[in-house]
Amino acid sequence: MKLASLFKSFLCFLVLFSLFMAYEGKPAEAAYSYQAKVTASNLNVRSGAGTGYSTVGSVSQGKIVTVVAQKTGWSQIAYGTLKGWVSSQYLTLSTWTGYVNATSLTLRQSASLTSASLAVLPRNTALTVQGSDSTWLKVYVPSKKLYGWVSSSYVSKSPVATTSSVVYPQVVLKQSTSMRKGPGTGYAILSNETVGTTYSKIGESNGWFQVKKSNGVTGWILGTLLRDPATVLKGKIIVLDAGHGGYDVGAVGRLYYEKNLTLKTVLQLTPILQKAGAKVVLTRSSDVYQTLAYRASISNTNLANAFISVHYNSLNSTSTGLMTFYYSSSKDQALATSLQKGIRSKTTALPDKGVKFGDYHVLRENKRPAALIELGFLSNPTEEKVISSSTFQTNAVNGIYTGLFNYFLTR
Ligand SMILES: [Zn+2]
Repeated sequence: MKLASLFKSFLCFLVLFSLFMAYEGKPAEAAYSYQAKVTASNLNVRSGAGTGYSTVGSVSQGKIVTVVAQKTGWSQIAYGTLKGWVSSQYLTLSTWTGYVNATSLTLRQSASLTSASLAVLPRNTALTVQGSDSTWLKVYVPSKKLYGWVSSSYVSKSPVATTSSVVYPQVVLKQSTSMRKGPGTGYAILSNETVGTTYSKIGESNGWFQVKKSNGVTGWILGTLLRDPATVLKGKIIVLDAGHGGYDVGAVGRLYYEKNLTLKTVLQLTPILQKAGAKVVLTRSSDVYQTLAYRASISNTNLANAFISVHYNSLNSTSTGLMTFYYSSSKDQALATSLQKGIRSKTTALPDKGVKFGDYHVLRENKRPAALIELGFLSNPTEEKVISSSTFQTNAVNGIYTGLFNYFLTR
């Protein structure tokens, strides 16, 4: 390369560099524009800033226009292809909410990288965007009560999911609700969520939780509708009553006595409830006879939060189905309904025979919330094989757990 050409390259660089500096140093307000809403029923747009100028068009009430310049009492606007001047008194500032989508973002005094820093805003900080100047946004930061400018590249219209390796807390839904695109009822509904669904909590804004479902889908749910699942069963006193025992064998199948299956179910359920923090009391933990009065009294004296009596049914060789009984509609029915639903959510091996009133001693003499479950018919040889299988036993136990968990979600 010749010296002359090297010099030319240097000159070229100098020119470009000074142009760049000129751009960076230009006055902040030069190209400032903002969105405004029309408040007049039909706003005239004129060719100049005054009523003496001719009308070039009109904009109807509620439309959003871009204000590109201002003179006393008049605003120069753009609305689609329409450009001109309107009386400023018929415009109100239209803002939108943005969120910081970078790890951190500097709030500056003016629309320039060289202007003073006012604050450093963390990810997902909410910003009220009032206007823009090329690649800069004029914002108000409610959490800091500050006005300033930020680079538009790092602002999103909805909060962003963080992607760090932090282990997020689990939350569970207390009542059915909608999952939304952003933290408020103004955001679009993504899906309808059912009671008992668990999520990872990955963010929070204005009392709304940003959550992630097990399938990876993220969205926002009102925080008061969610709770820590570890607290749901913690400290709850659960009395488990394995039906029959001792000389009272209960229903007799071809393979099993009812008393043995009920004890098996209860003993499998006990450690699961204990692991969740519940205090489990058994009316029997071995093959012994207990009176019905004794079983109910265990519930009453322990001030049980729930009493569950486990049974297997008997009628004839074709009888079939799962059913749960309650005595008091006010005290017991919600528990019975939740248990039936919980079991059905884990197994459909038995037809759903529903939740029914039942005048059983252990329910009638019980002062605590109580339910009696009949987990299928031992008198039906086909059903006996199904309900005595380890698969059904595990599903039934998990179903009773789910029913109890969902019952206590709001208690
Ligand atoms: Zn029984």
